[in-house]
Amino acid sequence: MQLVTDIPSLKGIIEEKKQKGLSIGFVPTMGFLHEGHLSLMRKAREENDFMVISIFVNPLQFGEGEDYEEYPRDLERDTALAESTGCDLVFSPSVSEMYPPGYATFVQVEKLTEGLCGASRPGHFLGVTTVVAKLFNLVRPDRAYFGQKDAQQALVLIKMVEDLNMNLEIIVLPTVREPDGLAMSSRNKYLTSEQRKEAVVLYKSLKVAEALIRKGEREAEIIKENMFKTISEAKQAQVDYIEIVDTKQLSPVSRVKGRCLIAVAVKFGQTRLIDNVLVEV
Ligand code: AMP
Repeated sequence: MQLVTDIPSLKGIIEEKKQKGLSIGFVPTMGFLHEGHLSLMRKAREENDFMVISIFVNPLQFGEGEDYEEYPRDLERDTALAESTGCDLVFSPSVSEMYPPGYATFVQVEKLTEGLCGASRPGHFLGVTTVVAKLFNLVRPDRAYFGQKDAQQALVLIKMVEDLNMNLEIIVLPTVREPDGLAMSSRNKYLTSEQRKEAVVLYKSLKVAEALIRKGEREAEIIKENMFKTISEAKQAQVDYIEIVDTKQLSPVSRVKGRCLIAVAVKFGQTRLIDNVLVEV
């Protein structure tokens, strides 16, 4: 496995693989890898000749007062984990390699980025789409793999690929969870042991919603109220949003019908966690 930190070296290696006609699978990450990331990497390994991951904590997608500085980093551990999945190349550039002085170009997907995390984190998706567009140009993947845990991000990137006629397929894989149901996240590391115990309420609230829908409840307000009650059982939880949206426009629905995304964002102290489920009635 190769570790590459500069763009010219990466471009040279990718060009050589392309010339050989090899397919390229790509998993962009911010590192501090966990089983969620590894599940994407294993799939990318399975489905492609050459498998690349990126590890880059992208300052552009962090707002003021967010956790860019504190975001956990451990490149040595990450490269060992990447190698264990059969990864061929880890691209881990510096900030100045990606955004040299004078950098001035940004990619923005409108509408889909307005609600949910886009409303709570202004500028976040602009950062995501800009860095992922750059990474796609560099890695030139046939397939790129993303997690359902960041459902809005996946939809936004699918839209970017479609609108900009990018020549690759985006594959979205299921959320990997801890045994108690908490979605794996690099940010779980920030939680105190008390908060970690309480954090299961995100998953519990989604299960409550699923159970209500299974029993025939369709009113979004009633489902959301019950979810709020469940989350409120955790003393330290502060709800950022509880939303039920359609899966095309991500617009809030008043009644559950067809395919809907139920999404939550909850803060424990400074740590903001998200989770979601897709339901179909
Ligand atoms: P991140 O490093 O948090 O930017 O995540 C990199 C990729 O891993 C994104 O496509 C995430 O959606 C995905 N991912 C993060 N957590 C999970 C999880 N628990 N299960 C599945 N995919 C995940």
